[in-house]
Parts: sequence; structure tokens; C-alpha cells
Amino acid sequence: MFDYIIVGAGSAGCVLAHRLTEDPTCSVLLIEAGGADTSPLSRIPGAYPQLQDTHYDWGYRTLPQRHLHGRRIFHPRGKVLGGSSTINYLMYVRGNRSDYDGWRDLGNDGWGYADVLPLFIRMESNQSIHDSYHGSAGPIAVSDHGERNPLSRIFVDAAEEIGIPRNADFNGATQDGCGYYQMTCRDNARCSAADGYLTPIRERRNLKIVTHAHVTRVLIEGSRAIGVEYVSPADGLERPQAASEVLLCAGAFNSPQLLMLSGVGPAEELKRCGIDVRLDLPGVGRNLQDHLVSYTRCTTKVSHSFAVAPRAVRQAAMRDWETNRTGPLSSNFLEAGCFLRVDPDDEFPPLQHVLRANLAPDYPEGPRPEQHGLTISSYLARPKSVGRMTIATANPLDKPAIDPNYLDDPYDARAMASGIRWNRRILAAKAFTTMLGKELTPGAAAQSDEELAERQHQRADNDDRGEGE
Ligand SMILES: Cc1cc2nc3c(=O)[nH]c(=O)nc-3n(C[C@H](O)[C@H](O)[C@H](O)COP(=O)(O)OP(=O)(O)OC[C@H]3O[C@@H](n4cnc5c(N)ncnc54)[C@H](O)[C@@H]3O)c2cc1C
Repeated sequence: MFDYIIVGAGSAGCVLAHRLTEDPTCSVLLIEAGGADTSPLSRIPGAYPQLQDTHYDWGYRTLPQRHLHGRRIFHPRGKVLGGSSTINYLMYVRGNRSDYDGWRDLGNDGWGYADVLPLFIRMESNQSIHDSYHGSAGPIAVSDHGERNPLSRIFVDAAEEIGIPRNADFNGATQDGCGYYQMTCRDNARCSAADGYLTPIRERRNLKIVTHAHVTRVLIEGSRAIGVEYVSPADGLERPQAASEVLLCAGAFNSPQLLMLSGVGPAEELKRCGIDVRLDLPGVGRNLQDHLVSYTRCTTKVSHSFAVAPRAVRQAAMRDWETNRTGPLSSNFLEAGCFLRVDPDDEFPPLQHVLRANLAPDYPEGPRPEQHGLTISSYLARPKSVGRMTIATANPLDKPAIDPNYLDDPYDARAMASGIRWNRRILAAKAFTTMLGKELTPGAAAQSDEELAERQHQRADNDDRGEGE
């Protein structure tokens, strides 16, 4: 019997395991479906695309999206110690203060920005920003890029030139403006939640970590969660019990999936799958909102894209990183960007833009471009479209049915069109004059709101098409 059982050793699970076991009298079982993080690739900031669709990734796809011409959108999710923090893009962006205040105003006491800021500070060990918004002694290391592509500076200069204010810290007093991102890295190597919170406490005697163990349901007695059931190649079927609490940290899709598999969720959906209803809770799996990304892609007249560098250069970059933690691979290739408003009276910037100093494929499965170029990804940070996830069957090993319902709300396509117009203004600035080639996406022919919106329906997805490496 444990005091706490934590399901999922991702970002949330690692933090909880760390903090709960600070009390030596409290015993914790942490259960993870994936294995240990042994891949050298997960350390390298510029290598994250190579972790996608591997055994480190649940590799989800959405249901066909009716507003995206039936396309199914790739949803990577970490399946390894550290969870998604082991495979993510390392961008250190906390979110807008109004995100948290919005949660508080919905009745979630303790989630306002003033409440969470001290926790962000406690979490962080920022290697370059030292002020009242940042911490310097926390488990998660945060740093500037060791080496920046020259295009990143040109982008920031161009954005400033067209009147976007310079922002030295997107996680500071204000989020608006243009500038450089930071990465969750220590000495140019990834710092995942497992690195920060789990590795230092692996020897705590009150913590047991079980890997390669797939939790199949929460065991419920009366109205109390008393334990979980899991299957693993090593242990077969196990049913550990928790005296105090079961903490579901299995991520945005797998936590609701587990609730439903355990009989907690919308009664009709559970009955359809033949699951006994323990609690009819219609909100489980509902209100799914996910950011969509549109891409502005241009060729350039200078040779700066690592993605198309000759093989020898790429091999030398790998050696640089391995020996000195330097070179192009010490960057996640997502160095500069801006936070922008769609409408002048917006209370927060709904758009997050990220420059990539190479040409992304025109669509996710598209061929890798062989030219030098740039891509500006415009993320819709606060989409208005609302979708849902559910389970398709009672088999816990089946993938959840994910339907973000992208672009259902017309605002979203309009906001993304506004993002493309921002990009065109930035790219028209003097800073870019001598080096910009041709706009490939959305292409000069797309000018009206309708044409730009149609491009989103055809091409937008939710990933950053990482292909720098
Ligand atoms: C490709 C990608 C890029 C991203 N880029 C960024 C970025 O640049 N910056 C940023 O701030 N955020 C980024 N994110 C988002 C960020 O990483 C996540 O929001 C965060 O890690 C989620 O934490 P979590 O604890 O909710 O879930 P996760 O970290 O996903 O952890 C869930 C854990 O639960 C385990 N699990 C699930 N189901 C079961 C089960 N049934 N039994 C046992 N274990 C189970 C999983 O294997 C996983 O380890 C990115 C995410 C992805 C996937």
C-alpha cells in the first residue's frame, strides 16, 4: 500500500513525485507507460523531430477534421520518463497572465497569475535573466540559445522596424512584442521534467518508479479511488492500492481516457462502449481546445538553412555538439518570434509567431524542400473552436478518439489570416530587402480574407513541422 499513486511520469507527474516524497513519511508509486530516457537524441536541442513517431511517442492522430478537408492532424505525446517534456521543442513560454487569471475567474482559486508566478520562479533556474519574474535555483534550467542563426537577428530587427516593440523577456512584465525565446536547457542540453525533478531523487526510499507499465483503469470503491490496475511485461497484471490519493498525470488525452475507462465520464458514451457507469460526468473529455499553426514560407537568397547544409556540415555539427555542446544543434531552431494582437482592442496577444531559419515542408508529409528559406509559424494561442476527446472502445490499449474541431469558429481562420498579414509586413521591412526570395506559402495569389482562410483549411496543422536537423 502506498500513500499516493501517480499515473504518468511526464511534466506533472515528475513534479508531484518530487514534492510529495520530500516528506520521508509519505510513500509514492509513480507509474509510467514508457521507459527510461536513454536516447542521446533527446539531449540535443536540435534533434527533437527525430523523436516523433518513435517508441518515445504515443503518436496520436486526430479524427478527420471536417474544417480541414478531412485531414487527420498528427499529435505527438511523450511516452517516456519526462513525458512530453522529453520530446518537446524546449521553448520556454509560460503562457499569458490572462490565461491563469481566466482560470481563477472561472472559480479555480489558487490558479491566478499572482498565485502561479511564485511557483514558476521556484521551478526555474534561469541562466541569463535575473529579476523578479525568474528563479535561479529551481530544478528546471532555462537558457538563451548557445548559437543563433543570423536570420533570427534580422527577423527581430525587421519586426522592430515595422513598429512591433522589442521585448527582452516574453515571460516577464508583458508578453507583447518581438524578441528571442529561451529554451529549457542546461549548458545547451535538454532539461526535461525527469532531468530536473526525478533524476536527483531516484534514491529516495519512499519513491518507487515502475516503467513500461500501462495503467488500464482506476480502481474505485464507493466514491473513492483506492488504487489502479496496470499491465506490464515484467509484472503482468497488478493492482497497487493508495491510502491517500490516486493522481492522474497521464496528459491531456490519456487522463480523461483513463477516467472514462474507469466509469467516470459522459454516461451515454461509456454505455456505448459497454463500460459500467460509476459517475455520469459529462465534462470529461469536453472543451478540448488546441492551437493550430499557419505557415508563411519564403525562399531566401543567402545560404543559412542548416536543414539543407551538406552532409559533411551536418556531421560536423553533430561532433560539435557531442564534444563541446556548441554549433547549430545547440539550438532548437526556434530562436526569435513575437506575440501579436489580432484586433486593436485585444486584451492579450492571441498570436504567437516563431521564426525558423529554414523552409518547412508545404504540408506535413510533403517533401523536404532543398532550397534555403525561412518559415514563420503563427500559432493561435487562444483558439475559439472547441472540440472533444472520447474513447472509441473499452480496450485501454486503443488510442483515444481526438477531435479538436479545428477552425469550427470562424474567428480562428480570421485570426490566422491576420497572422499572415503581420508576417508579410515584417518580411517587407528593409532588414529583409537584400535577402528575401519568393513567398511560397500562402503565396502572393492569396490576399483576401477568404483566400487566406481557405489556405488554413488546406494547410494548417498543429505542429511546427520540425525538420531543421
Ligand atoms: C512535440 C511537442 C512539442 C512541444 N513543445 C513545447 C514547447 O516548446 N514548449 C512548451 O512549453 N510546451 C511544449 N509542449 C507541451 C508540453 O510538453 C506539455 O504541455 C507538457 O509536457 C504536458 O505535461 P503533462 O504532465 O500534462 O503530460 P505529459 O508530459 O505528456 O505526461 C504524461 C505521461 O503519462 C504517461 N501515460 C499516459 N497514459 C498512461 C497510462 N495509461 N499508463 C501509464 N502512463 C501513462 C505518458 O507516457 C507520459 O509520460 C510540446 C508538446 C509536444 C508533444
